[in-house]
Amino acid sequence: MGYYDVIILGGAFSGASAAILLRREHPQLRVLIIEKATAFDEKVGEATTEMSAMFLTRRLAMWHHLEAEQLPKEGLRFWFSNEKVTGHANATEAGGYLRSAVPSFQLRRDALDEYLLATAVKEGAELLRPAKARDVQLGDFDSKLTVEVGNEAGDEVRELSCRWLLDATGRVTFLGRRLGIIERNDDHPTAAIWCRWRDVRNIDDLAARDGALGARNVSSRRLATNHYMGHGYWIWVIPLGNGETSVGVVFDKRIIDLHRSTNRGNDFIAFLKGIPALAELLDGASPRLDDLRFYGHLPYVTKQYMGKGWALLGDAAAFLDPYYSPGLDHAAFSVEATVALIGAEAKGEDVTSKIDEHNVTFVRSYHRFFNGVRELSPDVVLQPPLQGHRNGATQRRAGRSPQRRPADQGLLRSEPRAVPHGPSRPEAVVLRRDGCRAADAGEKAEGRRQKAEGRKRAASRASACRRLKEARA
Ligand SMILES: Cc1cc2nc3c(=O)[nH]c(=O)nc-3n(C[C@H](O)[C@H](O)[C@H](O)COP(=O)(O)OP(=O)(O)OC[C@H]3O[C@@H](n4cnc5c(N)ncnc54)[C@H](O)[C@@H]3O)c2cc1C
Repeated sequence: MGYYDVIILGGAFSGASAAILLRREHPQLRVLIIEKATAFDEKVGEATTEMSAMFLTRRLAMWHHLEAEQLPKEGLRFWFSNEKVTGHANATEAGGYLRSAVPSFQLRRDALDEYLLATAVKEGAELLRPAKARDVQLGDFDSKLTVEVGNEAGDEVRELSCRWLLDATGRVTFLGRRLGIIERNDDHPTAAIWCRWRDVRNIDDLAARDGALGARNVSSRRLATNHYMGHGYWIWVIPLGNGETSVGVVFDKRIIDLHRSTNRGNDFIAFLKGIPALAELLDGASPRLDDLRFYGHLPYVTKQYMGKGWALLGDAAAFLDPYYSPGLDHAAFSVEATVALIGAEAKGEDVTSKIDEHNVTFVRSYHRFFNGVRELSPDVVLQPPLQGHRNGATQRRAGRSPQRRPADQGLLRSEPRAVPHGPSRPEAVVLRRDGCRAADAGEKAEGRRQKAEGRKRAASRASACRRLKEARA
């Protein structure tokens, strides 16, 4: 039976970066990576934040790869619309006017993951690929693993053992599922659909031809993560270094019912093209429908990140929401903290209390982040479907082309506008934080009280900012 100090399941971002840091900082450790895929998947086609970019550049020393193979990112940009908006020129826009000061990147994940894994191997990690973890038996700093290793003669089964087993299998959550510690987060019922597109128009060229739009900005808009915002959904547009563009939508399943579509590709395209500014960008572009991806429910979280001799990294532990691109931040934080703890244990330290602290910190961080965001928007208010309202799929079956505005495509169950609370709209459906329908006047009053408190907190934040500015002046 092969013995290793650390076995890592999954050799993509989380697994490979953990291996790189372990080998660099504790070269005496024997590290094995087990990766299922013969070639990495393109995944979403992702944006780093400035934090995960810092991890890639300053901690992992990946500047060369990032400059040669990936695109720089120019921050976040948001486009809002109402019924008067016909394109980018008259849409409300929020985003940096000048270039970003802190580096970040738009990533082709398959290219990055291959480079990270090759680096881990170059720095001394061993690799089994393609190989798939099949069974595991956990003991205190003593785990046994059954692995299927692919080779030309077929799959060979190997038994391995290790002091530390790290799960970096992403949404597969190999270890977490076996331990029964992964919980679906139903308080945030979101789903996502995306694919890569070819020949998306360059928004900077559009701007250059339109004096008013061009004058509103100096830095590149195309290199930003462009968001097209609406009630119950947001859309990302991320340029990739190979000329393709990742375009996808994240939506609240209580408001938008794209997840129920029986013709997802067509409904997805119709949905995107129903947003005038986005339609302008996609004019003449073609979606790679062979690449159409769908996740029916995004968020989940583990109850425990680490035990004596095992740990969960990145998406193998938790996922909340891709808004602001925090996925690789979380992966970087969990890798960094786990590597430090394994290093301490390798030096003979009793890490029992550190493991407890690790669990408290990471589990609390997920819930704090989520609850913090939820505090800002206590209730989700939905309107009932419009009278005689049909969805895009139904319209197509009836031989009519879906109308252009997303509100009218029926993929929205409500108008893309805030709906006032209270008795003037008695038919409005109010969902409480737990997603249940608000039942009585008492709950509505509680909703109003929370809103008023929210407004008070916002006013007090604004006055604190004012005071700070005055003090600085
Ligand atoms: C819609 C959407 C948009 C997103 N956008 C962004 C973004 O813009 N920016 C960002 O930072 N993050 C984004 N994310 C999150 C990001 O994709 C993840 O956080 C990231 O991929 C996590 O990396 P990982 O290495 O933990 O897992 P993964 O990248 O999923 O890698 C897991 C690896 O484990 C391997 N594996 C699985 N099972 C086994 C097994 N049994 N044995 C061996 N190997 C196995 C797989 O082959 C794979 O290589 C987004 C996520 C979604 C859903």
